[in-house]
Amino acid sequence: MKIFESKNNCCGCSACEQICPKNAIKMTPDNEGFLYPEIDGSLCVECGACKNVCAFQNDYEKNKSQKAYAVKHKDFDTRMTSRSGGVFIAISDYIFEKNGTVYGAAFDNDFSVCHIRTTNKSERDRLKGSKYVQSDVKDTFASVKKDLKNGMYVLFSGTACQVAGLKNYLKNIDTSKLYTCDLVCHGVPSPKIWKEYLDYCEKKYNGKVTNADFRDKTLGWNAHKEAIWIDNKKYNSNEYAYLFNDNYISRPSCFNCKFTNLDRPADFTLADFWGIDRIVPDFNDNKGVSLLLVNSEKGAKIFDSCKKDIYCVDCDLQKSAKPNPNLYMPSPKPEDENLFWDNYKKLGFEKALKKCYKKVFFIRLRIRILEKLKKIKRIFKK
Ligand SMILES: Cc1cc2nc3c(=O)[nH]c(=O)nc-3n(C[C@H](O)[C@H](O)[C@H](O)COP(=O)(O)OP(=O)(O)OC[C@H]3O[C@@H](n4cnc5c(N)ncnc54)[C@H](O)[C@@H]3O)c2cc1C
Repeated sequence: MKIFESKNNCCGCSACEQICPKNAIKMTPDNEGFLYPEIDGSLCVECGACKNVCAFQNDYEKNKSQKAYAVKHKDFDTRMTSRSGGVFIAISDYIFEKNGTVYGAAFDNDFSVCHIRTTNKSERDRLKGSKYVQSDVKDTFASVKKDLKNGMYVLFSGTACQVAGLKNYLKNIDTSKLYTCDLVCHGVPSPKIWKEYLDYCEKKYNGKVTNADFRDKTLGWNAHKEAIWIDNKKYNSNEYAYLFNDNYISRPSCFNCKFTNLDRPADFTLADFWGIDRIVPDFNDNKGVSLLLVNSEKGAKIFDSCKKDIYCVDCDLQKSAKPNPNLYMPSPKPEDENLFWDNYKKLGFEKALKKCYKKVFFIRLRIRILEKLKKIKRIFKK
């Protein structure tokens, strides 16, 4: 049994592993640190369940985005500790009011990222904040199925490929109490490279990582700097952010993503509201605004109940989606797509990081100088 022909066609959602009736599949990291299904031929009975469940190669249940909103959570601390406007917190609070469970991506003790099940607000707060690493969903699909069978309300959040995988996995189950949030996604970086980066920071600053934030909002929502705490002392940098933003360490299938459009697998789509200043002037205080797409009737119903906790403005769907490229195309491969991986495999992480960092730094510097020159030219023309 072969589940996929090329790595471009496996998003690593783990639905195949979790559906296998013989437990013959194990998600195993490749040499770049991405998980792929490995089949134990002695257990496999060629039933084809793994191939049929694959949302990346087959079809997925599509909801058409119907409405767009600009959203800010009313509680300032909630917004400051969330990546954009904190809309996820408002939606998940509603599920807790129904005694439900909330699933999403959290840091583990060693700062690796995996999906967890949460049953109260303090556990759920571990899901706050985007982690720019592919999250390992572990056995959460099976756990969602169990909760639904027990009649519970469930909210599952994750990348669109994870949500589509879950929905295909649950095809024969009553999902009337399941709510889902997918994220607009730039691409998911390698967990192995994230771990290498943390080791590099520990060596550089001579201590233990005690916290991490991929986008430090205290520097402003627009700032693209990460923060790493070593022995509780904060250090800002943009080294990992450069690798992520310029797509050097993304999963191969992300360049072939099927979900970068308005046909969404989830009831809600969450994103940063880029372009907010043009669409809702005066709403942006540089502390974060979420773009929320409501994609189903079911989603629209519970969103009404969340409105007490948020400030929200009705927006034009097409205009709001336009400034967010990953709502209409996958991130492009970097021109020198092998620069990071070739150097990493030959010379190790630090040297590969430095080569990419230098390159991105000079490209950005050049862009900034050209923009400044254009501004000066415009002033002189006036
Ligand atoms: C890898 C990645 C790439 C992204 N790329 C873009 C982009 O290009 N453009 C854009 O507008 N927005 C992007 N986002 C989404 C954005 O950063 C915010 O998550 C979104 O605006 C929701 O914000 P929030 O304030 O409501 O919640 P937040 O507190 O920021 O997010 C919490 C939610 O994100 C989920 N989450 C966090 N990390 C992961 C992960 N690694 N895998 C799966 N789920 C995760 C949690 O389960 C939780 O549901 C990306 C997010 C991730 C994780």
